[in-house]
Amino acid sequence: MDTTADFYLERYLVPFDLRQVPHYSFDVVVLGSGAAGSAVALSAADEGASVGLLSKSALTDSNTQLAQGGMAAVLAAPDTFESHVADTLEVGCGLCEREVVEHVVRGGPGAVQRLAAVGAHFDRGGDGSLELSNEGGHSHHRVVHASDATGREIQRCLTQAVAQASDVATFPNVFALDLLSDPDGRVVGVLCRTVRGELVAFQASQVVLATGGAGQIYRETTNPTIATADGVAMGVRAGCRVRDLEFVQFHPTCLYIAGAARVLISEVVRGAGGVLRDRHGVRFMPDHHPAAELAPRDVVSRVVFERMVATNDTSVFLDLSGLDHDPHEAFPHISRICRFFGIDIARDPIPVRPGCHYLIGGLDIDLQGRTSVPGLWAAGECASSGLHGANRMGSNSLLEAMVLGEDTGRATARAVDRTVHIATVHGRSESPSTPPAEVNIDDLTYSLKALMWRQLGVERSGEGMDDALEKLRFWRRAVRALPLEGPRSWELANMLTVAHLITLGAQGREESRGVHHRLDRPRTEDDWRVHLTFEPVVEAGIVRAVRSARVALPEAIAST
Ligand code: FAD
Repeated sequence: MDTTADFYLERYLVPFDLRQVPHYSFDVVVLGSGAAGSAVALSAADEGASVGLLSKSALTDSNTQLAQGGMAAVLAAPDTFESHVADTLEVGCGLCEREVVEHVVRGGPGAVQRLAAVGAHFDRGGDGSLELSNEGGHSHHRVVHASDATGREIQRCLTQAVAQASDVATFPNVFALDLLSDPDGRVVGVLCRTVRGELVAFQASQVVLATGGAGQIYRETTNPTIATADGVAMGVRAGCRVRDLEFVQFHPTCLYIAGAARVLISEVVRGAGGVLRDRHGVRFMPDHHPAAELAPRDVVSRVVFERMVATNDTSVFLDLSGLDHDPHEAFPHISRICRFFGIDIARDPIPVRPGCHYLIGGLDIDLQGRTSVPGLWAAGECASSGLHGANRMGSNSLLEAMVLGEDTGRATARAVDRTVHIATVHGRSESPSTPPAEVNIDDLTYSLKALMWRQLGVERSGEGMDDALEKLRFWRRAVRALPLEGPRSWELANMLTVAHLITLGAQGREESRGVHHRLDRPRTEDDWRVHLTFEPVVEAGIVRAVRSARVALPEAIAST
């Protein structure tokens, strides 16, 4: 049933008056310089648009940079497009949109070629052909990689390409605060703050959100510090429809050493023969799934989580001692990190546990990347294209970023309208009163991460989600009373907004499906084969509510 929930939110994070803010003007402005944002920028410029590409940190500081395993693409027999499509649909648990899956999969070889053309060096065999590895859910070897640091290679060559593109101007260390809307709700630019603390506006008739994921909402995550859900929250404040936010993917094997960063130990390591054992040395995955360690990520994450509880341990262990080749050579990046903590991966079990990895839901887009708001587009992890359904298959997200990013760039360039102007935007004048001295942004951020890990993690329950909603409402009220003055407070506000929507979505979906596992509703229900959308209601400078709806998949509509 469709419902409306109160969701009080200021339209803009900070007060501003555009008459006093300097501005730049481009045809297309892209927020985010990872794989998706870079692909959008390059293709929009290729179509003749002038492009501004912004990043709140260094241009290479992204989820893309950390990707290890690689990018899936059908490149050699006996693999086929049909097989890659079938695997993606199977892992997506009934929620993938077939048209999107077909399109993205068929775009794989072209995406690999484009990356090679801008200088990406992928691993090749003695005969010069690309080496392809296997991962969970894939029924063929189809993952293109560059050692175990594929993302670094992709980010390196894309960043170099945007730097060399004459129609792309890059702006690192510029924090996008909010999308600027004209009185009709059309997006006409972006309000940002530079590293020197100055407000600056970017005017553009087409604005693309490519701001990546939301892993920092959770205490345990594989994501870097930039992944604070800014783009999804900015979109919501501008009235953009979001969907399927209850689907948050957890990676089953993050290095777990207290005090160390939660580095991901890629699925490729299990694909090469790494096995999971508990503290007693027992290999447990074969008892739970025919594919054992290569079962879909949600299954492995849940089993690992249950095993940790059953053995009263803070982790399980990844054992590489049975590999038939030297793990130091095969996985130099992982070897280096583990060695730093005194772990020899050829001999010692590696302590691992699940961590938040990927935001499957996001800004609702069509096949060209268009959102529900005129002038606003989205690409990559912050968007929900329908490719991943209820569970993302490994190595499909870089593919999505490259294929749909390219399409989105071309579509934005064709939509450029040089008559729009940010002079029509009404700023925000009032600022909240001085906060009570005891509000501590860092403490609130840590409490949010702990709450989401506890109540909206690998396993969820109705009771736990009620608890989470109560706390989130309380914290959001507290943060609304603060004058938000720096990146950490803006990121906290954004994370609270998206955490609230993740929780509403998870509570609203009364079943278990894919990565959304409810202990109180463990079955997958046929009548829940729908997207769950939230439509913000924006009036007079305030997001007053969100309307939720169950939306049937296109093929479900066609078959009824
Ligand atoms: P990102 O690459 O995260 O880029 C986001 C950009 O947005 C950054 O430039 C950031 O600075 C910018 N940004 C964010 N907020 C703001 C703001 N407020 N203002 C301005 N700029 C902002 N996928 C695969 O397919 N294969 C893999 O092997 C794989 N391995 C992974 C391993 C790890 C450890 C992780 C974390 C992810 C992995 N993934 C993998 C997932 C994949 O890397 C990401 O989904 C993908 O790179 C996302 O690309 P993106 O361009 O959407 O976002």
